[in-house]
Amino acid sequence: MILDDVKRELVGRCTFPATNWLYNRRRLRGIYGDLVYSDAWPAQMLEETQLQQLRRVLAYAQRWCPFYAERLRHCHVDPKDIRKLSDVEHIPPLTRHDLIQHRAELVDRRLSASVEAAERQARPPGAPIPLAPFRRHRLVRNTSTGSTGTPVVVYEDGSTTAMTWAHEWRLKKWFGLAPGEREARFARVSTEFVANSKSLRARQLLWNQLVLPGINLAEADFALCLERIRTFRPRILFGITSALTGFAKYVQAQAATADIRPAVVITWASPVYDHERALLEQTFDCPVANVYGSREVGHVASTCPHGRMHIHQENFHVEVRHDPSSGGAGNSGQILITPLFPTPMPLVRYEIGDVAELTPSDCPCGRQHPLLRNLLGRTTEIFTTASGRAIPPNFWCRAFMGNDGSQHVDQFQVVLERSGGLRFRVVRRPDYTPETEAGLRRYLGDQLQDEIPMEFEYVDAIAPQPSGKIPMVIDQREAETAGASR
Ligand SMILES: [Zn+2]
Repeated sequence: MILDDVKRELVGRCTFPATNWLYNRRRLRGIYGDLVYSDAWPAQMLEETQLQQLRRVLAYAQRWCPFYAERLRHCHVDPKDIRKLSDVEHIPPLTRHDLIQHRAELVDRRLSASVEAAERQARPPGAPIPLAPFRRHRLVRNTSTGSTGTPVVVYEDGSTTAMTWAHEWRLKKWFGLAPGEREARFARVSTEFVANSKSLRARQLLWNQLVLPGINLAEADFALCLERIRTFRPRILFGITSALTGFAKYVQAQAATADIRPAVVITWASPVYDHERALLEQTFDCPVANVYGSREVGHVASTCPHGRMHIHQENFHVEVRHDPSSGGAGNSGQILITPLFPTPMPLVRYEIGDVAELTPSDCPCGRQHPLLRNLLGRTTEIFTTASGRAIPPNFWCRAFMGNDGSQHVDQFQVVLERSGGLRFRVVRRPDYTPETEAGLRRYLGDQLQDEIPMEFEYVDAIAPQPSGKIPMVIDQREAETAGASR
């Protein structure tokens, strides 16, 4: 146990920050220290910080990024005139289409040679550049993995990743864990990659992180994960939600729950739905936290031990734009995100493509950081009935996995078809009968209150997307024009 403590301190204070510095992810401990300090700030102080940072980001964007020089001129906004956060609303949102069309002009023009160098290099998306502080070109090219449509490309110099690591550290601190704590991560890599990668062995040694495959997982992969986790004894299980839930099912089937005792499970890359949270809590007997963010902007918000999702307000300005056509119901709307820390590619009011509600904090944890509620998922995952009702992905969870469905359905996927109909791909459990389907049809008919063509397709397994993720909802409605939207 003492050895564990020594290793944690060494990793958290020394080897993790130092090796990240070599990837140009600087000031990790400094950012973390600031975040711990501002964690208890009152709302007004958080907002004042945001305003200062916003002015700085806009001034930088105006001066160095051709896209913003033009855009701010066009909408008559001068960063010096920004008096309150809502003044940013005079700047039009940055759409995914803007990002695809103008990505080079969004980057600091002094770095155009670095953008070209990043384009020429054959590194995998997001792969860091070793010894980056000593190189002329330090931009990392990253692509977001939208489930449909053209991926967006962003360039970062390490600053976004440094911010993400620091936010992750603060999240772990909320659950009583210090930087450098032993952690198993189900990442977006395959089993073969994990088996053959030397860098992952170094990562285990220097970062105290056991990297496990998180995509395209079969039973043999889960067996390997279980064996490695038993040996490594992580205090944190982190990863792609579908990998964690798949692993939890495997652990239950093996009656191996007592062998794995993490202090927290942190899910990432997609919302965690109620039935998934329940499965993870029950299997690992610990709280489940969820991280919200994307490759373009990093970690924007995380759930606290009270289960509320707080925005990392020191470093992000988040707006929710109420727009009836966005598919959001009630007070929900399109999320717009402005990172407030210095990056070579500032994104102002980025329309990330998710729908949620935004409210001031009333969380018992006492943090004043605003809350994202009812994070319903991607706009493309929301089904709108003929009468205009927006059906979020969580509805399907309740239908297929809630109440009585969970005994009969192992896995499901909803396809929103071009014809306007719904196709349900279902992996049945042994006790699934024709009566189960009839019951589901009745329930869905009652709830949706519309004549919607529904088709049930019975499959042995649900195939992952090319990215390796298994989305709960697949949108085929705009398949031909997906390049223009998401
Ligand atoms: Zn809270």
